[in-house]
Amino acid sequence: MKVFKTYLSALARANRLGPDTEWLFYPAMLQDSPAKWWDDFAFRHALHEGIDICFYRTGPKRPVKFIQALKVPALADGTVLNVCDDFLGRTLVLEHQGFQDSPERIIFTYSHLAPAPGLEPGSRVERGEILARVFDTRLKRSKLPPHLHISCIELPRSIPLDQLNWKLFPRRDKVSLINPVFI
Ligand SMILES: [Zn+2]
Repeated sequence: MKVFKTYLSALARANRLGPDTEWLFYPAMLQDSPAKWWDDFAFRHALHEGIDICFYRTGPKRPVKFIQALKVPALADGTVLNVCDDFLGRTLVLEHQGFQDSPERIIFTYSHLAPAPGLEPGSRVERGEILARVFDTRLKRSKLPPHLHISCIELPRSIPLDQLNWKLFPRRDKVSLINPVFI
């Protein structure tokens, strides 16, 4: 809980939203939700593999807003393991300091992004460094508002790094999802 909560504050700071920022989550934005939080609110094609971050307000009585080009900071020091496409934009797959000592590999995906130039497998990143902006979904005529998707995934170290992508991540027979809210 502490890591994720701290990250939400970092996200507000990186986007200069002010100290009273509160991020808002519809149930369908949370991990394992079967439902969409956009368009027809029908079922997703698979249970949600992480958490979607999009809406915020800057005080209890303020209107709910979202930012078209949300800046996405790194939640800790780390290394880029892979960069791959997702159904909206690109995904950065990172391994972070503090999550490297478990017998299985623990990775984080930051998805639906337009990554900063120069980030590639092997790149080192620092906590708070801006990795990307969220992908402008209007470019794909998507009904989804631009948003940041984060997954935390535990998987065998034997899986080659270039296979860490969205063919693999929904395979719950091969990987375990850790709910980011609880890290
Ligand atoms: Zn998502």
